[in-house]
Amino acid sequence: ANEQTYQALGVDTLGQRLGGVEAVASRVGGNPAEWHIREVGDGNLNLVFIVTGSTGSVVVKQALPYVRMVGESWPLPLYRAHFEYYALVRQAKRAPGVAPEVYYFDKPQALIVMEYLHPHVILRRKLISGERVAELGATLGEFCARTAFRGSELSMASPDKKADVGLFSGNVAIPAITESLVFTDPYYGAEMNRHTPELSPVVDELRRNARLKAKVQRLLMKFTANTETMLHGDLHSGSIMATDTSVRVIDPEFSQYGPMAFDLGMAVANFFMAYFSQPAHRAASDLDAYQAWILEVITDCFTRFDEEFRHLWQTERTGILFPRALFEEQGNSADDACDALLEEIREDALAYCGIEMHRRVLSLAHNADFEEIEDTALRAKLEARNVLMGQVLIMEPQAYCDLNALVALAKAYN
Ligand code: ADP
Ligand code: MG
Ligand code: MG
Ligand code: MG
Repeated sequence: ANEQTYQALGVDTLGQRLGGVEAVASRVGGNPAEWHIREVGDGNLNLVFIVTGSTGSVVVKQALPYVRMVGESWPLPLYRAHFEYYALVRQAKRAPGVAPEVYYFDKPQALIVMEYLHPHVILRRKLISGERVAELGATLGEFCARTAFRGSELSMASPDKKADVGLFSGNVAIPAITESLVFTDPYYGAEMNRHTPELSPVVDELRRNARLKAKVQRLLMKFTANTETMLHGDLHSGSIMATDTSVRVIDPEFSQYGPMAFDLGMAVANFFMAYFSQPAHRAASDLDAYQAWILEVITDCFTRFDEEFRHLWQTERTGILFPRALFEEQGNSADDACDALLEEIREDALAYCGIEMHRRVLSLAHNADFEEIEDTALRAKLEARNVLMGQVLIMEPQAYCDLNALVALAKAYN
């Protein structure tokens, strides 16, 4: 077959098609006809295979030209795989050891061969099962700080950063999904929306709040217009894989340049949703301790973000922003400027957090934390807590930048 013509991989054809690729064959080992190939994609969009041979395993991820969870009626460009690849290699440099290592990339086939994370499982599953992961909040806070700082003009040479923004501006289809599904659809009766029937009174009240909608649209303006740094773009607990002691981040196909606060806010929102859904998943005897642990993960994530960001501010501030000479000439300290910036990031992260808390129960793509609660009355009761806290975070994020106040708010809604 013509190598330039895209063809979706299948379990039957993968060995034949990738058997001759040295970067794959050398890691998998043995006769490609005998490779063990499993399709494991559980996501909304792509094909994902685990390929095992005599010496090892790799993961093969290939984009499909449509949204997998909806079907061919919703086309989606294959080029998103290119941006996933670009993001993976940038993350590997900016936050070493977190993203899976890339072994091979085939652009026309929209195909990435990468490190098989094992025995990692999707973090969302662990949170639903009540398992703890050491250093979870700290690892994610550090990842967000490193990618935010090192992908920005605090650190990067301005021409390089501007060229990268130009490159990523070619990714239009994926940001369009975020813009509608995350920021707009939750707040009106958009066609693809759904929510738990018993949640309707809360949803109706939310959608009557014109000030809320205006605030969210202002945050959307900031999201679309802002190119501060390269985002992961989809940092939910289904994009994180973990063992009890290791945390890795996958699936950056929603990567784009955007506000520094976005990934941090999205990650934290997924911990709040895990928190609010726990009463349906835990026996009463374990509930308090496990929920307390989730709140610690959240505070660790924010705290570590700030610590790492401050460290990079001191040691790697080589870009056009806040140049040392500007401050040092008059003997000024730039520390206050860093604190003020971190406060602004915290505030924006809380607002983005509130939006993510809304869209996962009101828009198209829900999360298992709530979805797997079969008793819809109980589900709606827990979702309502999540929706109401999200609303507060969007309306007055500045009141919860203090982490004690944030934790108290979550407990008040629980
Ligand atoms: P999608 O973009 O369709 O959501 P993901 O990249 O999230 O695809 O991958 C789907 C699933 O495949 C993940 O939930 C995970 O279970 C598995 N997976 C993806 N990448 C890896 C990897 N590098 N190692 C192990 N499993 C992976
Ligand atoms: Mg995914
Ligand atoms: Mg997935
Ligand atoms: Mg994805």
